[in-house]
Amino acid sequence: MTKNIALLGSTGSIGTQSLDVCRMHGYGVKCLTASSRVEEMEQQVREFRPELVCMMNEQAAADLKVRIADTATKVVSGMDGLIACATYDGADTVLNAVVGMVGLEPTLAAIAAKKTVALANKETLVAGGHLVTNLAKENGVDILPVDSEHSAIFQALQGSPRKEAVKKIILTASGGPFFGRTLDELENVTAADALKHPNWDMGAKITIDSATMMNKGLEFIEAKWLFDMPGEDIEIVVHRESVLHSAIVYQDNSVIAQLGVPDMRIPIQYALTYPERKPSPVKPLSLADYGKLTFFEPDYETFRCINVCKEAIALGGLHPAAANGANEESVKLFLNGKIKFTDIAYLNYEAMKAAPEKQDFTLEDVLAADKAARKYVLETVK
Ligand code: NAD
Ligand code: MG
Repeated sequence: MTKNIALLGSTGSIGTQSLDVCRMHGYGVKCLTASSRVEEMEQQVREFRPELVCMMNEQAAADLKVRIADTATKVVSGMDGLIACATYDGADTVLNAVVGMVGLEPTLAAIAAKKTVALANKETLVAGGHLVTNLAKENGVDILPVDSEHSAIFQALQGSPRKEAVKKIILTASGGPFFGRTLDELENVTAADALKHPNWDMGAKITIDSATMMNKGLEFIEAKWLFDMPGEDIEIVVHRESVLHSAIVYQDNSVIAQLGVPDMRIPIQYALTYPERKPSPVKPLSLADYGKLTFFEPDYETFRCINVCKEAIALGGLHPAAANGANEESVKLFLNGKIKFTDIAYLNYEAMKAAPEKQDFTLEDVLAADKAARKYVLETVK
């Protein structure tokens, strides 16, 4: 059966790689969304002929309408438009590759509309937590991970999917561009330094998250929700080569890992072909070319953002949403040269701690906690 996909965030790093996969396998691309890059969107519309396109930005939507007036594609805008794409009748699978917690409402809407969700947008699970996983259970909807580590865990789980068989998750981290540095040495690093990731070419926000290792903290929370594992049973290991993408330790201490060259088109494709496997344009892995793979304990003293997330998920409730919201703002401030690299962890921690205590929360609570955390960061910096 041909898949019909609604791709949210199609102009980004994951978005364009997802289109590579769709192109190769001839999947139907029914909806595309982006924030404001009209030129790229016009090209995508002309190639993939989607039925519905959303530009988050109103002006961009108006521009796009004029540019593609000769096509049959309908253009919508804003959050309502994004949700219209996430729930579009003609699509069976929603690939959510937008960046940030703005992806939460479309994810919930897609699940409620009983779409299969291929999820790259990790902020969704970090902020929404049980709202997302419970709604998926209620609707019998699969959430298929696109994040490489979670895809690796998901693939390793096919070895013995019974929950009782699993003892531990090993979540690998590249360590980012500042591996081996001390906190003092990171005081004056610039956005340009932090944007140089050794192994992956990604959007700016996740690249900064990799440099602070907030990304691994967010993924720790993401793993907890996706695989229903307590934090104590998720071990983070730094693995510089990004070849072993994560692993499962079973009760018999057998470890099953997924390996491959660092190329996101493998996990993107698996989320779309699951449970089948298909040929891929990705280079095969040559272990002999690598020669050796290295593993290290994370440096929690230097990369304090990991602790922010670990503490947030231990506190539960709205603390992870606050940590995420604060981080989205502090990363923007750092990219704009307004704060130091080392301020990010401090701001995220303080805003995370300040979240209201509420274990059983609603979407409105999450949106309010996110907003309050962002405000906390902006006011502290002012
Ligand atoms: P990106 O910045 O390259 O692309 C983001 C996409 O979202 C773009 O299409 C953009 O137009 C859209 N977007 C941005 N802000 C928006 C807004 N406010 N409203 C609606 N749409 C908006 O980001 P990316 O690197 O592709 O990452 C996307 C998601 O996937 C993130 O959650 C990231 O953590 C996750 N992820 C990325 C990678 C990677 O290799 N890039 C790997 C694992 C997970
Ligand atoms: Mg990842």
